[in-house]
Amino acid sequence: MRKNLFNVGALMRGFSTTFSYMFKKMPTIQYPSVKKQHAPRFHGLHELRRYDDGKERCIGCELCAIACPANAITVIGAENTPEDRRSPGERYAARYEIDELRCIFCGLCEEACPTDAIVLTPRFEMADYRRGAFVYAKDRLLVPPEAGTGTPPDERPNGIPADLGGVMRAKDTVDIAEGYDATNRGHILRTQRRGLAALRQTQDEPR
Ligand code: SF4
Ligand code: SF4
Repeated sequence: MRKNLFNVGALMRGFSTTFSYMFKKMPTIQYPSVKKQHAPRFHGLHELRRYDDGKERCIGCELCAIACPANAITVIGAENTPEDRRSPGERYAARYEIDELRCIFCGLCEEACPTDAIVLTPRFEMADYRRGAFVYAKDRLLVPPEAGTGTPPDERPNGIPADLGGVMRAKDTVDIAEGYDATNRGHILRTQRRGLAALRQTQDEPR
């Protein structure tokens, strides 16, 4: 008898939970006409940016491809010529592809890029029926010239953490060496160089 009463109580508690939800606001969003605001640091579809003068930021250095843990990026660089200058550096990306099906949207490519060329935008709508459609080449990644430079990462909704703001500002430059120095890899190299210089100095000193 006691057990039966307990079960009825449990049932009533369950029904009351269901009943209470009947008067709550529906969480369903009428997508795609209404879109949910995602987290400020959401990582979505990639974009290759340009400089103000329309030149491509990408210098075909392949650092993003090396940093990518999913092996999703293919970069084949080519030399700029005076007649056909695509980027301010010596090279540009003749071929640049990202397999978005392999991508885990970690953002390491963005972090590794010395010129702030590749960024992850908040866009997420990329559904398709064909596997091949998820391999994004330059024709879909590169911001069209009429669209300006592309969205800098620090202008995303709610911005980026303050500690990365300085790096982003320094990377937002046409000076490739300065841009590279501003990255984590650049910082590591600088520290190593300083360490080596100090070591050499100690070795050169007369004993
Ligand atoms: S976001 Fe991560 S997994 Fe995707 S392409 Fe960039 S480095 Fe590779
Ligand atoms: S790291 Fe940046 S500049 Fe180098 S190939 Fe990738 S996108 Fe281009």
